[in-house]
Amino acid sequence: MGKAPVNVVLEQEQRDLVRGGGHGLHLLQDVQAVRIFTDQAPDATHLALDPAQAVEQLGPILRVAVAEVPFAIGGRALHTRGQYAVRLLTGSMCRISEPGRNVNRDTMPPMPELERHELIAPLERALVVFSHPDDAEFGAAATIASLVARGVRVDYLVTTDGGKGTADPAVTSEQLATTRIAEQRAAADVLGVGEVVHLGYPDGYLQPTLDLRRDLVRHLRRLRPELVIAQSPMRRMDGNPYISHPDHLATGEATLAAIYPAARDRLNFPELLDEGLEPWKVRQVLVTGAEQANLWVEVQAQLDTALAALRCHASQFDDWDAVEERVRERAREAGEAVGLPAAQAFLSILLD
Ligand SMILES: [Zn+2]
Repeated sequence: MGKAPVNVVLEQEQRDLVRGGGHGLHLLQDVQAVRIFTDQAPDATHLALDPAQAVEQLGPILRVAVAEVPFAIGGRALHTRGQYAVRLLTGSMCRISEPGRNVNRDTMPPMPELERHELIAPLERALVVFSHPDDAEFGAAATIASLVARGVRVDYLVTTDGGKGTADPAVTSEQLATTRIAEQRAAADVLGVGEVVHLGYPDGYLQPTLDLRRDLVRHLRRLRPELVIAQSPMRRMDGNPYISHPDHLATGEATLAAIYPAARDRLNFPELLDEGLEPWKVRQVLVTGAEQANLWVEVQAQLDTALAALRCHASQFDDWDAVEERVRERAREAGEAVGLPAAQAFLSILLD
């Protein structure tokens, strides 16, 4: 596939589009000129950088090379010449090569582009591991509904009791935890989820301990899912106002550590063998909230069901309209990146 380079100096408005509100985009704040490599002979319409047009005509990822570094802040250029892959609509960006001088070698390690994955097949059982009642629905409700519609059995494992998710001084942690167990069961029923396991660790204080890992291994070996949907163990430092809840980081780390190698290798937690729990090999992990995505699940037909499930978590929001708008917008944005009307995006990891 021949690449045709085109030098383009961006107008202010176009720079804003490239920057447009998403993680990683601060890396582009000094970009005023780019070189676009198109997969076809370029013409003027390719250079407008209108996101919808660019996606339609160039595919979801524009490869750009920074041709000029017009200014520096604090005597250090934030950004040097080099090639970048920019996903305009989701705002995720990764550096793919650095032919020029790299003044940010320490803070901007190269990130390889990820190979696109699909869901494994055959797929009979999935497990969603998350921190608080409502995380599964906020992260993956439509995908879960899609899996159930395909005949996949989906179970839930919730690590904490969710007992701190309120600003109401009249509610105790115990009362809230009880409410949220019921809300979680109702949401699971809307989606067609089977078992909901509550480990009951205190909300807000979770650590990726060996006890937590053992608990996760126990249920992985018991439920034997081929697919696990997991939270990301990586803190996002991209301006996202949620930063990354510490419980999500701990659950993500413990989940990945439980999948590999502990659930797979029989000498990890040998006491579980005494419980009759033989090793189990998960084949695919879908990480929610990761910096890069390489798997998209089409969810247009599942959005209403997903919203109905989310609505079961009545203790967790005051402004339902805002929640609905955010969910629909995120699905639309994720879908646009790959030419679908609505999608959920994940980092997929395949295990041998
Ligand atoms: Zn949460």
